[in-house]
Amino acid sequence: MEYLKGLVCRECGETYDLAPLHVCDLCLGPLEVAYDYAALRRDISREEIERGPQTVWRYRKLLPAGDRPVVDIQTGCTPLLRADNLGRLLGLRNLYVKNDTVNPTFSFKDRPVTVAATMARAFGFTTLACSSTGNLAAAVAAHAAKAQMACVVFIPAGLEPSKVTNIRVYGPSLVALRGNYDDVNRLCAEIADRYGWAFANINLRPYYAEGSKTLAFEVAEQLGWRTPDTVVVPTASGAMFTKIARGFEELVEVGLIPAGRPRMGLAQAAGCSPIVTAHEANTMSIRPVKPSTIAKSLAIGNPADGYYCLKTIRETNGLAGSVTDDEIVDGMQLLARTEGIFAETAGGVSIGVLKKMAEAGVLDPDETIVVYVTGNGLKTPEAVSDVLEAPITIDASMEAFESSLHPRPEPEPALP
Ligand SMILES: *Cc1c(COP(=O)(O)O)cnc(C)c1O
Ligand SMILES: [Zn+2]
Repeated sequence: MEYLKGLVCRECGETYDLAPLHVCDLCLGPLEVAYDYAALRRDISREEIERGPQTVWRYRKLLPAGDRPVVDIQTGCTPLLRADNLGRLLGLRNLYVKNDTVNPTFSFKDRPVTVAATMARAFGFTTLACSSTGNLAAAVAAHAAKAQMACVVFIPAGLEPSKVTNIRVYGPSLVALRGNYDDVNRLCAEIADRYGWAFANINLRPYYAEGSKTLAFEVAEQLGWRTPDTVVVPTASGAMFTKIARGFEELVEVGLIPAGRPRMGLAQAAGCSPIVTAHEANTMSIRPVKPSTIAKSLAIGNPADGYYCLKTIRETNGLAGSVTDDEIVDGMQLLARTEGIFAETAGGVSIGVLKKMAEAGVLDPDETIVVYVTGNGLKTPEAVSDVLEAPITIDASMEAFESSLHPRPEPEPALP
């Protein structure tokens, strides 16, 4: 049974067959995947999902693949951790961290890419490509390897060395362009037209974006099939933010959770916060910026889905905030030291903005809050390594050990 109706224009409603298209011919609006919700409401159940695989593909009926074979490296079903230590510090009694640092390529980008790669192969493409701020390139390269497709990925020059290694290891053709992400993306749009490759986030963007809905599906299921009251989401292009909101709406639409939607909280780095700036200025038009932040995975100065993010914030009575580089570094350490999760700079943005919101009193101490942590700390170790305490290096003797410690600790009594 196919639940897919094709593509539909988000602006004028024109419909298209499933194809590698992303803009409406009539109005140049963005296209998105349309589903037969009436049929889904009849056929979908919590029990069937719970019996499914421990990956995003347990939600297959709400994704664009239909019955097609998927390109799967076991993405998703990541932990939703009850964050009591962090919550106590922030005065929040029902705080959870969605820990997406533990996906196969160590960021949430595996979610959109498993869908995009599946559709690219189904459409008959042989080359998988993307324009990336870093994490997307790793996810695309890994999925191309699994699908045994050719792979060309584009990044801005000057990314963190660990992130670049985490791309190169999968063996793609990696092109680093002198310029920022927005320059990379502009060139890639031209390359996509000329070469006929499947760019995950350009010509396959409607399918790519769908994968991020699973960040809502999993959270709802992990909370016992209910919606959190507020979520905080680190944002660059805005695709993930809008699709998390959409994911919760869809669950209501197909009858899997009771009516209600979370307040959507958007987090950006102060050095690249065009969406937060527009929200604070109470305007729906986004002025592009030149990014300057250590949160390089969020450094998109001209966010493709920025307008829709602003709309989502308005419609959900939502929130938006930004943090400086120092606050990002503090946020990374705070999360590691309270909850044992080492997140990359984008995670520092999530935690830093959550902290600011808590301090500003805009969060209810008893509401259920989910903060999304979307990338692994080993991608950006240099962000914290300079501010962390250095190890004590000593000779391998008891004397050297004991004289290195001030004050000298008393040995603990033996356990009974
Ligand atoms: C890409 C990325 C984001 C932002 O995703 P958008 O959909 O572009 O807003 C957030 N966190 C991490 C770690 C990312 O790599
Ligand atoms: Zn249109």
